[in-house]
Amino acid sequence: MGQLSLRGLRKRFGDVEVIKGIDLEIHDGEFIVFVGPSGCGKSTTLRLIAGLEDISDGELRIDGQRANELHPADRGAAMVFQSYALYPQMTVAENMAFALRMAGVPRAEREQQVKRAADTLRITKLLGRYPKDLSGGQRQRVAIGRAIVRNPRVFLFDEPLSNLDASLRVDMRVELARLRETLGTTMVYVTHDQVEAMTLGDRIAVFNDGRIEQLGEPMAVYRAPDTEFVAAFLGAPR
Ligand code: ADP
Ligand code: MG
Repeated sequence: MGQLSLRGLRKRFGDVEVIKGIDLEIHDGEFIVFVGPSGCGKSTTLRLIAGLEDISDGELRIDGQRANELHPADRGAAMVFQSYALYPQMTVAENMAFALRMAGVPRAEREQQVKRAADTLRITKLLGRYPKDLSGGQRQRVAIGRAIVRNPRVFLFDEPLSNLDASLRVDMRVELARLRETLGTTMVYVTHDQVEAMTLGDRIAVFNDGRIEQLGEPMAVYRAPDTEFVAAFLGAPR
């Protein structure tokens, strides 16, 4: 579960086309990174997958099913953003259980799911705390925990680490790699950070102006860029 198929995917906002024909097969359990400069359409592509935007043209299938025939809530896509948007008046446990409560999941099952996700993320000790008493890295873990409890087919990460300082970003990269090993769930990870792209993904898709300019294993793309754009973007000094 968690195989995505994007075929000739396009998105227009008014007269402006921002996604210009994306063809991409994402395998079950794959960790794929969308990388590229600001404004090239990475977030929009994630939002199309999540069902937060309607497709203008082309096709998106999730585990073989046409996504536009699925209600966004039934797509099994859980999104994690850079702004954690935790509810300040709720504890960590309540934040993590909230979506389940809204979905009418019984209390005992909610608690079990939250405990399991907290164990996975090693935040069990934080369950009774409020967001204001958490560090940035802890908040980001809780935000990921909220996604995990929903048992998604695919995680969609939109620059989840960009609000963290450099050393925390390194820790969270390790944590994400571990999470991926533990859960085995398909992950689509958006970043404009070359280092994240090079270290996290099984494959990277380098976006440029609404298209995928190159797709492949990170080191292969880095060593053998197809275009000057890819060479300059991945090779840029930091
Ligand atoms: P990225 O995540 O790669 O930085 P986005 O997917 O956010 O890029 O944006 C791609 C392009 O689409 C940008 O030019 C952006 O201004 C435009 N765009 C995104 N969302 C909207 C919207 N709701 N209405 C109009 N234009 C949008
Ligand atoms: Mg974006």
